[in-house]
Amino acid sequence: MKLDTIRSDFPILKRKVNDHSLIWLDNAATTQKPHCVIESLSRYYKENNSNVHRGAHTLAKEATEEYEAARKKIQKFIGASSPEEVVFVRGTTEAINLVANTYGNLTIGRGDEILLTQMEHHSNIVPWQMLCKYKGARIIPIPINKKGDIILEEYEKLFTPRTRMVSITQVSNVLGTINPVKQMINIAHSHGVSVLVDGAQGAPHLGVNVQDLDADFYTLSGHKAYGPTGIGILYGKKALLENMIPWQGGGGMIKDVDFDRTVYLELPYKFEAGTGNIADAVGLGAAIDYLEGIGMYNIEHHEQELTRYATEALSSINGLHIIGNAPHKTSVMSFIIEGIDPSKMAGLLDQEGIAVRAGHHCAQPVLKYFGVDSTLRASIGIYNTHKDIDALVQGLLKHINQ
Ligand code: PLP
Repeated sequence: MKLDTIRSDFPILKRKVNDHSLIWLDNAATTQKPHCVIESLSRYYKENNSNVHRGAHTLAKEATEEYEAARKKIQKFIGASSPEEVVFVRGTTEAINLVANTYGNLTIGRGDEILLTQMEHHSNIVPWQMLCKYKGARIIPIPINKKGDIILEEYEKLFTPRTRMVSITQVSNVLGTINPVKQMINIAHSHGVSVLVDGAQGAPHLGVNVQDLDADFYTLSGHKAYGPTGIGILYGKKALLENMIPWQGGGGMIKDVDFDRTVYLELPYKFEAGTGNIADAVGLGAAIDYLEGIGMYNIEHHEQELTRYATEALSSINGLHIIGNAPHKTSVMSFIIEGIDPSKMAGLLDQEGIAVRAGHHCAQPVLKYFGVDSTLRASIGIYNTHKDIDALVQGLLKHINQ
């Protein structure tokens, strides 16, 4: 991986923040965008802008081709068997809400159980909780250990005849743990239970193949994978999506409407009511091309090496404790420093152009499990370097010693 070339693809990395060169270590919140993504948006609006699937004119045809080409790129990127299995949504949050409100609504009833890991993001807890409230079902947390690994033996014991759904993150946005999702899916399937994998922090960092994982549903957020905000995907196995009743109704998802009945369109359009986020889907397609140009294997290798380097460097700081020390982890370092308020430290680092996150990272249950209500979080992307990590460590040391 040619890091200098990659860095030069990201115009924002040239800017100064508080008179210092920007060091972006908040990639788990969102990633920066390469030229090719920014230009694809501009080109789309300058040359092809139109609504899709409807008009009979040239621009409608071009916009439709671009939109569907982006869907095919994503299909290939995640290893889905057909573009029909790729539904455009706003992001992971909307994808999980869609599954809870359609598949969940169809299959989960009073007394049923949904298994979620203790390290889930709120967007993989709250939609299920809302469904449980409505249906009289309940959530059972899958326990983790103090390293931040799922306790697989405990997971297996949680299955009962009432278990209807498992929903798990591929990579934790707080701990960085890479969960053994393939194994977990296998176990769930042996009990006849479907699995949703939240890939918001997985897809940008690991090569993903939903067929190899045998995931029933898989989600990703474009903005965490160097694409635009407001676009993401829900992957679902065709047989499951076909049996699900649409969640939102409106234009773009129908074949025929009368006042007493509607015939829906085929997949994936029956889940895409209203005008979609066409330009950003095109932008996400450009981001996928960009990632594939670098190669997910190279990205995975670079980020895991940098994670090891950062873990070692941070661990050498007196009074600093890393939260999440799973042997198999990537790209995220959460930590606390004795006697120091995380948001105050994030503010001090910002004065030096270093962007890290402080807070609960939308995953309060896992922070509570570790006995804290806030951490500092440095998270790595494809353009980060050893120098970025060195600057972070120097910045921390400077303020700790003040
Ligand atoms: N799941 C995980 C693991 C995340 O880290 C995030 C965002 O931080 C989400 C879900 C929600 O993603 P979005 O806000 O793009 O819908």
